[in-house]
Amino acid sequence: MTDLYERHRAVIPDWVALYYKRPIEITHGEGRHVWDADGNRYLDFFGGILTTMTAHALPEVTKAVSEQAGRIIHSSTLYLNRPMVELAERIAALSGIPDARVFFTTSGTEANDTALLLATGHRRSNQILAMRNSYHGRSFSAVSITGNHAWSPTSLSPLQTLYVHGGVRTRGPFAHLSDAQFIEACVADLEDLLGHTHDVAALIAEPVQGVGGFTSPPDGLYAAFREVLDRHGILWISDEVQTGWGRTGDHFWGWQAHDRNGPPDILTFAKGIGNGMSVGGVVARAEIMNCLDANSISTFGGSPVTMAAGVANLAYLLEHDLQGNARRVGGLLLERLRGIAASVPAVREVRGRGLMIGIELVKPGTDEADPQAAAAVLEAAREGGLLIGKGGGHSTSVLRVAPPLSLTVAEAEEGASVLEQALRSI
Ligand code: PMP
Repeated sequence: MTDLYERHRAVIPDWVALYYKRPIEITHGEGRHVWDADGNRYLDFFGGILTTMTAHALPEVTKAVSEQAGRIIHSSTLYLNRPMVELAERIAALSGIPDARVFFTTSGTEANDTALLLATGHRRSNQILAMRNSYHGRSFSAVSITGNHAWSPTSLSPLQTLYVHGGVRTRGPFAHLSDAQFIEACVADLEDLLGHTHDVAALIAEPVQGVGGFTSPPDGLYAAFREVLDRHGILWISDEVQTGWGRTGDHFWGWQAHDRNGPPDILTFAKGIGNGMSVGGVVARAEIMNCLDANSISTFGGSPVTMAAGVANLAYLLEHDLQGNARRVGGLLLERLRGIAASVPAVREVRGRGLMIGIELVKPGTDEADPQAAAAVLEAAREGGLLIGKGGGHSTSVLRVAPPLSLTVAEAEEGASVLEQALRSI
């Protein structure tokens, strides 16, 4: 392992962050568990940053992938592709977007990039509204709409981005406001921004900010935004890369928790749908999707092998009601973690929806973010055989829990016990 770490450092850029003082080489997985090269077994509460949606090495997905790989791995999007059409049909139906068209990409970044291409093309404007503290990917355009500047390595931009309030409310001028006052203030901020501009293309938002530390705006904020945007003809892009496919428990898509006005104009997805295979994509009404009048294909987006994974994975998710499981098991886990946190002074808040739970750490007795504590808990959990993630705004002080959606009650209990010990050890 050490040898591999040295080799990694010699050839991989410094900005590709690795978790842990002694980084882990994961060699295989099964269900909700993974093993490292030293033979240690871990309960996986992060699922490769939410990419393992159903379970590791799910036989149904493995079979679909190997059968498709045995037939043909790739030809070209210039030819008809059965698994791609099949997955597009299912996603179009699930999206709730009328007359939906689906375009597949290989990542969330490329999905958001495509959404920007559509929104700017459709509205003939390169002005985009984005949320403070957001994360939307790593391409030139995606970092330009990423409000979390710890993840935005350039100030140069192909877009004119205006950042809107409405994400984190922990600190700063809005911290003391009630939900209703916060919504009022954010909507006033949005109206004010729009009063000084005249051709904004779209607003992009995550229903739950993922990298930003699993924070949700209060219910009603996005619905209120939507009303303002609709009045101006501005498109709504919901980045469902982390929140899609039932992860938030009560809803299949994250936007449904916020906006009862109906589906977004453009929806982007990635991560879990391929259960680890590189599948991302964009859904939009035909009128928006077809606004491009030049060719635009993705050589690997929609590849038959990754599409076969998506079809099998989605079928499993729906047949086994993993959204319901996320709601039930996630609800229990949230309550259990809140119970633990009540006697751990470093925990400021335990929050979440379904199997997307954040534990925010502060220096006890203060409101000051504590990234060192988060790093220490991450290490201690690993020693206890549990993998979790971390995130947050400019300082990484939120522990992130996002296991595969098939998590059992017993596993939730086991992971919570390890987390309890890890939290008490700091
Ligand atoms: N949007 C959101 C909300 C994300 O969390 C991520 C990845 N963390 C992305 C976009 C980018 O996805 P990818 O890493 O697949 O490019």
